[in-house]
This record gives sequence, structure tokens and C-alpha cells, in this order.
Amino acid sequence: MKRRIKKLLKLYSFEIALFFLISTGLFLLVVDVDLKENIRHLLTVTYSFTKEFLKIILYNLTGGFKIIKLSNLLGFLILLICFYLTYKRWRDRLIKSNNVLKTCEKCNSKLNRINKTNLLKLLGFFMRLKIRLYECDKCHKKYKTCKEK
Ligand SMILES: [Zn+2]
Repeated sequence: MKRRIKKLLKLYSFEIALFFLISTGLFLLVVDVDLKENIRHLLTVTYSFTKEFLKIILYNLTGGFKIIKLSNLLGFLILLICFYLTYKRWRDRLIKSNNVLKTCEKCNSKLNRINKTNLLKLLGFFMRLKIRLYECDKCHKKYKTCKEK
């Protein structure tokens, strides 16, 4: 009995991993988590996804180019959709959090545009967003604006 369960687990390991990945994707879509949490989840999902992907490629290479199962293909398709939805939601959140302030919220001083950090540049590139960074003259509080390109 135990051996049978083990065999089943081995056979459906991909499907089980997929289920958890989709759950993670759905979780990201449904629950409002802050940006840091989001990035962390995204990283774990990407990591498992790459691992599973490599496993399948290796399996198919060693197995003499067996045709990838339809269920696997379907799984990938669902995952891709999950990734796309997560990406889109994240992007929408960034655009929505956009503030078009001219003066500082805290001390009402003028805001100056400053150079973006590398992380923001990267984020803007991948999210296809125009991100600008502003800093308050007096209290040095930073504000960022996100606009669609
Ligand atoms: Zn200020």
C-alpha cells in the first residue's frame, strides 16, 4: 500500500507541483499582499517552475525524445496564464498606486526629480512602465510615479 502511494506520488509529482503553483498564483491574484511579499512569492514560483521545466526537458532527452504528454502541455499553458495574470495584476497595482503630487505630503515642500535606482529601472523595463522618482527638498521623503508607456 505504502509503495503504491509512493509510486502514485512519483507518477503525479508534476501534477501535484502544478497544483501548488496554481494555488500560489491564485493566492497572489486574490489576496492583497504588499510588494515585498509579492516579489518573494514570484521568486519561489519562478524557481519551482524552472526546476520542473528542466526536469521535463531532461526526462524527455534521456527518454529518447518522448513526446511531452498533453497534460504537461496543458499544465504549462495554465501556468503561463497564471504568470501573465499575476504580472498584469502587479502592473495594475503599480499604476493605481501612482501619485501625482507636486509637493511633499509631510512638509509641503517642493519635490525634485531624482535619478532612478537600478531596481526601479529594471522594474520599469519589465513592467513596461514609465517610473519617475521624486524627492522632497526638506525631509528627503521619496515619491515615485508610474505611468503606462
Ligand atoms: Zn517633505
